[in-house]
Amino acid sequence: MADYILVLDEGTTSTRAMLFASDGVLVASAQEELTQHYPQAGWVEHDAAEIWEKTLKCANAVIPAAGGAALIAGIGITNQRETVVAWDKVTGEPLTRAIVWQDRRTEPFCETLRENGHEADVQQRTGLLLDPYFSGTKMRWMLDNVPEVQAAADAGTLAFGSIESWLVFKLTGGQSHITDASNASRTLLMELAGEGFDPQLCELFGVPHAALPQVTDMAGALAETEVSLFGREIPITGLAGDQQAATIGQACLSPGETKATYGTGAFVLTNQGASIPHSTNRLLGTVLTQIGGNRTYAIEGSVFVAGSLVQWLRDSLGIVEVASQTEELARSVPDTGGVTIVPALSGLGAPHWRADARGVITGLSFASGKAELARAALEAMAHQTYDLAQAFAADGAAWETLRIDGGMAANDWMAQDLANMLKVRVERPGFVETTALGAAMLAACGAGLYPDLESAAAKMRGTLASFEPDMDDAVRDERIARWRRALDAA
Ligand code: ADP
Repeated sequence: MADYILVLDEGTTSTRAMLFASDGVLVASAQEELTQHYPQAGWVEHDAAEIWEKTLKCANAVIPAAGGAALIAGIGITNQRETVVAWDKVTGEPLTRAIVWQDRRTEPFCETLRENGHEADVQQRTGLLLDPYFSGTKMRWMLDNVPEVQAAADAGTLAFGSIESWLVFKLTGGQSHITDASNASRTLLMELAGEGFDPQLCELFGVPHAALPQVTDMAGALAETEVSLFGREIPITGLAGDQQAATIGQACLSPGETKATYGTGAFVLTNQGASIPHSTNRLLGTVLTQIGGNRTYAIEGSVFVAGSLVQWLRDSLGIVEVASQTEELARSVPDTGGVTIVPALSGLGAPHWRADARGVITGLSFASGKAELARAALEAMAHQTYDLAQAFAADGAAWETLRIDGGMAANDWMAQDLANMLKVRVERPGFVETTALGAAMLAACGAGLYPDLESAAAKMRGTLASFEPDMDDAVRDERIARWRRALDAA
């Protein structure tokens, strides 16, 4: 019986294929690094053809572990969100390099739209802010600056899509031009309450509706691979943006349940059930799931600098040789001796949204050494998360527990500090690849191996470690006051 799930996990720095058994056990995986192109300051590009080639290579590397394509029940794809690919529907070739989510080139266009008073309406309808992060303005930039893209639009052969949309197009031999609702909700072109892309929003951002994919469910018989690729058609049964997939992989399937991923940056999502979020605290509203046409939503807050601060301690300051050493350094001292780091190395994200803020280190003395700095860096994760927690609570989405994942979540000291500062239980799954697991859960449901995500979670998720709050209020209050003062300086 076909009961393996093939997950294609399309990250920013690498592409991976992972083969899961139906009980959630990872059977095989393969990974390829992706070339990052930085043509100018603030610009980040990927080669979509490279992503496709490496995806295919990784998929072919793991399929034999299932005993062949015939034993794969479904493919799940999860991807870096907001990155835009433009290709020609007839040739199937990219028309220009993909503009990556981190790219800031459309800030002037966003500013014009803000000055013209569009932000409140756009936020109300899409849940998003007018920021270059989201895809809509990137599409307009391509039309304005790449003649091949405009020419394809004129000829009616232009296709826009995020990475999952591009890969489905290639996997189906050009038969399907679709995007799932979670990825669609990051474009600025779909209303949170709307079914497909909104003609009025397309008009505002100057994006031709005809070039956009069809918005689909996130689980089900969504498409089928072309026979020639794997020797047999394999159904594509799950699609999700990476943060939505991680939220599903953490089984945050009921309102109020929250996950935080600590990788390069930190991404927090709280399930809002079927009610459409409207943040008044500069958090985002986004689609969490769409299955059988029914949607659930999440409130989202992102912090730009998390693990990248530890990388900076390692690569620029040489305070640690490997990231995990921050844990023993933090434990080697009773406190930071008053040292506080505000990691605004590339501005501040939610809930502050200050692109112009820069990092600061306060409270230095002759007693400050490597250990104090390392501890202050880890403390900064709880401080930033504390600010998000306040904003989520003010939006009516207070957290009862926090489920963490991502590379940094392996740090037990940080996990305990999060519990202490947030005053909630922090849980960490034994299997931390929650993004891939979430895509596997969706694809397993979509392939009919489980009736719903709750049943998939019950069978496919493993054991948890948990951390309970254990800190004096006075110590915690002093930490928060110290953080506030440093934040003002940033
Ligand atoms: P991404 O998916 O964004 O590439 P990962 O989830 O792989 O990131 O996490 C890697 C990040 O986590 C790196 O920035 C690294 O510095 C940090 N990191 C990894 N392990 C630890 C650790 N034990 N303690 C602190 N930071 C860590």
